[in-house]
Amino acid sequence: MKVLVQKFGGSSVARAEDRRLVVRHILRAREKGYQVVVVVSAMGRRGAPYATDTLLDLVAGQDVSPRDRDLLLSCGEIIASVVLAGALREVGVPVICLTGAQAGIITDSNFGDARILRVEPQRVLQELDNGRVVVVAGFQGTTENGEITTLGRGGSDTTAAALGVALGAEAIEIFTDVDGLKTADPRIVSDARTIETVTYNELCQLAYEGAKVIHPRAVEIAREKNIPLRIRSTFSDSPGTLVLPWRPEASSVAISCDRIVTGITNVAGLTQLRVQLDTESAAREVFSALAEANISVDFINLFPKEAIFTVSNSVAERAIFLLENRGYKVYARPGCAKVAAVGAGMRGVPGVMASIVNALTQENITILQSADSYTSIWCLVEEENMEKAVRALHRQFKLSA
Ligand code: ADP
Ligand code: MG
Repeated sequence: MKVLVQKFGGSSVARAEDRRLVVRHILRAREKGYQVVVVVSAMGRRGAPYATDTLLDLVAGQDVSPRDRDLLLSCGEIIASVVLAGALREVGVPVICLTGAQAGIITDSNFGDARILRVEPQRVLQELDNGRVVVVAGFQGTTENGEITTLGRGGSDTTAAALGVALGAEAIEIFTDVDGLKTADPRIVSDARTIETVTYNELCQLAYEGAKVIHPRAVEIAREKNIPLRIRSTFSDSPGTLVLPWRPEASSVAISCDRIVTGITNVAGLTQLRVQLDTESAAREVFSALAEANISVDFINLFPKEAIFTVSNSVAERAIFLLENRGYKVYARPGCAKVAAVGAGMRGVPGVMASIVNALTQENITILQSADSYTSIWCLVEEENMEKAVRALHRQFKLSA
């Protein structure tokens, strides 16, 4: 029988009336003859009683080990799965809930941001064969030693993708509160367009650059086995965005008509650091020291006498302290944000950077730093200009509906 994995995000399972819509999507899949595995996130966002951030707040300021914090956090998804299973049972669907561990999600022991190493799907397969819908608590797994781990923000997407691959699913559906991948965050650009089809690579790039509708790791996992992925809304029947290894329209449309920029992304909460380099070995020392402290850096521009890069605000103080302690002069600029134009079609197309500079300077937005790859161009701007910058770039590349 064909297996379908359906993942429902926190906003999809928060309220009883939403859960009824979730149940409807599951019933439809069963009517189409699928064996259904459902992955759920914790219910609601910060403030909601069992949301991940609310659970975190319970121990704010306390000296909790990463291991114990994961134990606490894993409860949010377990609660959501039991509540959703109740709603399924009410309409007569045979169902069983499994924790990540019970579903065979084996991870490394990097608490708080664990990586799935493999999936042992026997239990899930057995339950499916018994005719049940299997509801799996997302965002969590277990180490070989039976310690509970969590997978980091957006981790339920990863759970869904890993189960999809392990079960040889026909497709993985990511249900959320918007009807697919859009040309920009719809909270910033109200007329952002839903993208009908996208390649794994483009989606992965967009997700890494800040399109938080799906976790990039989930896309990578699905891509490995070419499992079709669909991003769609719990609250509508629209088909959403289909993710494939190739772009169907690209083969039949002249290259010049192909889109250059697929979407605009943004990431707030960054600090730009400039470090003065006085000796030959300084650059190596600086980046080794940061790596040893597990501080990830982005947006790196290296010059003979200076290194410029960004770190997330949450680790900026630690990074500065660490470098100053080693005698480096560090200039920090907090309150930065990254905006990026992403698209596989920009490869080799002249003038994309010119368009970006044009759009931003017309809005009096200072570009603090920029960088590019084959498929994206990033600009660092002041956080207060971030939304304006996203809208300007969205207009510049005519991405609206
Ligand atoms: P879930 O709880 O379902 O996982 P998330 O909050 O993680 O939901 O992701 C959905 C949100 O992602 C949307 O509400 C939207 O504001 C945001 N988002 C950011 N960029 C994009 C984009 N390019 N396309 C769609 N949604 C986006
Ligand atoms: Mg999410």
